[in-house]
Amino acid sequence: MAGSSPDIDIAIIGAGPYGLSAAAHLREAGIEARIFGKPMEFWADKMPAGMLLRSPRPASTISDPRSKFTLEAYESANNITPAQRTSLETFVGYGKWFVQQIGSELDQRNIGTVKKENSTFKLVLEDGAQLTARCVVVAAGVGNFRRTPATYAKLSEKACSHCYDGRKLVGLGKRVAIIGAGQSALECAALLGEAGAEVEVIARIPMLRWIGMHPKLHRLGPISKMLYSKHDIGPIGISRLVAYPNMLYHFPLGWRDRIRTRAVRSAGAPWLIPRLGNAKITTGRNIVSVTEIGDEVKLVLDDGSERRVDHVLLGTGYSVDITKYRFLATDLIQAIEQFNGYPKVRRGLLSSVPGLHFLGAPAARSFGPLLNFVTGTEFASNELVSNLSRKLN
Ligand SMILES: Cc1cc2nc3c(=O)[nH]c(=O)nc-3n(C[C@H](O)[C@H](O)[C@H](O)COP(=O)(O)OP(=O)(O)OC[C@H]3O[C@@H](n4cnc5c(N)ncnc54)[C@H](O)[C@@H]3O)c2cc1C
Repeated sequence: MAGSSPDIDIAIIGAGPYGLSAAAHLREAGIEARIFGKPMEFWADKMPAGMLLRSPRPASTISDPRSKFTLEAYESANNITPAQRTSLETFVGYGKWFVQQIGSELDQRNIGTVKKENSTFKLVLEDGAQLTARCVVVAAGVGNFRRTPATYAKLSEKACSHCYDGRKLVGLGKRVAIIGAGQSALECAALLGEAGAEVEVIARIPMLRWIGMHPKLHRLGPISKMLYSKHDIGPIGISRLVAYPNMLYHFPLGWRDRIRTRAVRSAGAPWLIPRLGNAKITTGRNIVSVTEIGDEVKLVLDDGSERRVDHVLLGTGYSVDITKYRFLATDLIQAIEQFNGYPKVRRGLLSSVPGLHFLGAPAARSFGPLLNFVTGTEFASNELVSNLSRKLN
């Protein structure tokens, strides 16, 4: 292929919110991109059935350049009554509808391998088909980055799973220990408790944290707007900083890390509190050993107490590590400058490899926590378009 024109200009890997939004913005700018992957697969197959989005409605819209394909537009077109909390089903339906509206080319096959070949990229699809692309936009989300602490690594799949492993909240057994104190841990605890399981949440932090515990501060009109940005990520002050990713980009890495950690720390949405009525909550405790004994798992806590459960569910979040994107060839990974698993991306969300862009959570260490959420799609897509318009026109 060296020397000939690539088969396509832009390959977008991943048909989640970031990939779909990028395709919509590129199309409007006259740049055709092909999206690879099943639309909204992570949300449809990996999130627990019955979950509600934590982000408020205005921050749950996937950006398109004319703001035509909003969550409200989807609901209105499909006679869905808007609810204060968006359900998983509605959000998945919204993403699938969005892709139909934008008219971009969608290939539902997964990408198996991406290699750099001279000035282009060679992509091998899951069925062995091959093509070349001038630029690759990685919008593959965090599904590959599940964090499984070493303590639990030896447990069988029957005994232990991760909150992101899929919709397996049935058949886990009667007694379930949930490790962690973030939204996914607490929401799984609520859902399992409501389904009749005996649930215990075990967390290291001294007490559970809840986000948005100052609702009055959000109802002060213009004053609220000064305190919180429309993205509603993080507490007062941080929320406003997060809204300026191009400014955060110039902050020292240590500051950026502190802001990101503070904005996305483990916390649950307060509407979960009444739903956790039956769950036992144990905070300030570490698990020191875990043993699978027959059909049970024995957990020993650092106060010497023991638990016997049928299943351990890990709500231990994720750590971005692009080496876990198995589709990136080893020599390509090695060419990407990183800070500990995060690609270093600059304006245009461009990595150190020309033509290779990263959207979503992998870009958050460079541009801040906005990129961890659906509401960051507007910024990411605009950055991408301005970079690619210059490059391709
Ligand atoms: C439990 C949980 C709750 C959350 N709640 C919220 C919330 O309420 N609001 C919010 O804003 N954010 C929430 N998030 C964060 C959410 O993951 C991101 O906001 C959003 O999914 C980011 O979109 P994305 O396109 O980057 O990733 P994804 O939605 O994960 O999409 C990436 C897609 O790429 C696909 N893919 C991966 N590899 C390949 C490949 N090789 N070839 C083709 N396709 C591939 C995946 O299957 C996936 O469908 C939540 C996350 C979790 C885990």
